[in-house]
Amino acid sequence: MKQCVQCGHQLRPAKVPLTKAPGTRQHGANGSCKSCYDRDRRAAGAAREPEMFGYVFDERQAASALEAWLSDRRRRIATQGAAA
Ligand SMILES: [Zn+2]
Repeated sequence: MKQCVQCGHQLRPAKVPLTKAPGTRQHGANGSCKSCYDRDRRAAGAAREPEMFGYVFDERQAASALEAWLSDRRRRIATQGAAA
């Protein structure tokens, strides 16, 4: 029987139910059990998040965008009145 490359837990094929192979873990991917695989995926997601967060919510970018919107709004109000 194969073992998880990370935790060394015995793996069972996805088709085999736990009752047929007690004490084993379901195979996830890349030779890892599902627990290790899921943990890796969560870790990868967490590592990717700050990047996305920084991109979407760049403070300076947001501030300058707001500043541009405000000055445009002020200019339109000044030239066309509050109805603009
Ligand atoms: Zn494992």
